[in-house]
Amino acid sequence: MTDTSLSATTQPKPGVPTDVKSEVVYIDGEFFAKADAKISVFDHGFLYGDGVFEGIRLYGGNVFRLKEHLERLWMSAQAIMLEIPMTPAEMADIVCETCRRNGLEDGYIRLVVSRGAGTLGLDPRKCLNPSVICIASTIQIYPKELYDQGLAIITAATRRIAPDTFSARVKSLNYLNNIMAKINANNAGVLEALMLNSEGHVVEASADNVFLVKNGVLITPPTFIGALKGVTRDAVMEIAEGLGIEVREERFALYEVYTADEMFLTGTAAEVISVTKVDGRVIGDGAPGRVTKRILEKFRAMTTTDGVRI
Ligand code: PMP
Repeated sequence: MTDTSLSATTQPKPGVPTDVKSEVVYIDGEFFAKADAKISVFDHGFLYGDGVFEGIRLYGGNVFRLKEHLERLWMSAQAIMLEIPMTPAEMADIVCETCRRNGLEDGYIRLVVSRGAGTLGLDPRKCLNPSVICIASTIQIYPKELYDQGLAIITAATRRIAPDTFSARVKSLNYLNNIMAKINANNAGVLEALMLNSEGHVVEASADNVFLVKNGVLITPPTFIGALKGVTRDAVMEIAEGLGIEVREERFALYEVYTADEMFLTGTAAEVISVTKVDGRVIGDGAPGRVTKRILEKFRAMTTTDGVRI
């Protein structure tokens, strides 16, 4: 994974210098200037949300948990019968090269594998060539000061898709369920929304996993009730275990949220952010809690050590 040479599929276009520090996007073996980075309108990723993706962070020139992200990408693709037209090692090269070409030391990488161009019918067999896209840019989903103050959120009216309809473990290009929750948040004048499953159990936020702290124990919903198995979630669970904090994967409802001592969200884009108000109820003492702060501090330290050098 640390091999920086490009495989045959990732050779740059002749005449394109490799040290260009402009915004370039990788699409199917070539790098394009942002304005020219385009895919077919017949791509089923565009027409039907038929494809999978990953969001990955780059910290100080290291790609955080690249192996774990690639494993999840391959499992998402396997679940939807999509064959990724390269090896994970080749994909890792593309990720690193895209970061280098964009001159990034810190940033956010979006890897997309779409079903590719096909006909106007649904049949994925008509899409002969899946497309691989890599964008390396930056992201800030919540204002910086809220990492010290905590977020106020609401519960979304939109329920999370049930695992017996389509598994939320698949990080698919169809995010309308989550976007509906985001619209609920927007309409309520807050930045994030908590999503419940059809049984009323808390599952996750629109693009983050959820943790509660109660009596010193960390509680997060099990992924089988409809949550994505977040890479940051896994990292936080490891950190907690390292700190001797008990972690339980348990179902819980809004009562447990409203009466929690602390609450925080985790995600690649969000990192670790405290939640201090839910549906008007103040959580704990209304400020980021002690356990949340310890975990955030350890997480920040982990991002400086746990990565693949670009
Ligand atoms: N849940 C959903 C629905 C997500 O889209 C994401 C990632 N953006 C997460 C949880 C967090 O996952 P990760 O820590 O792997 O980014």
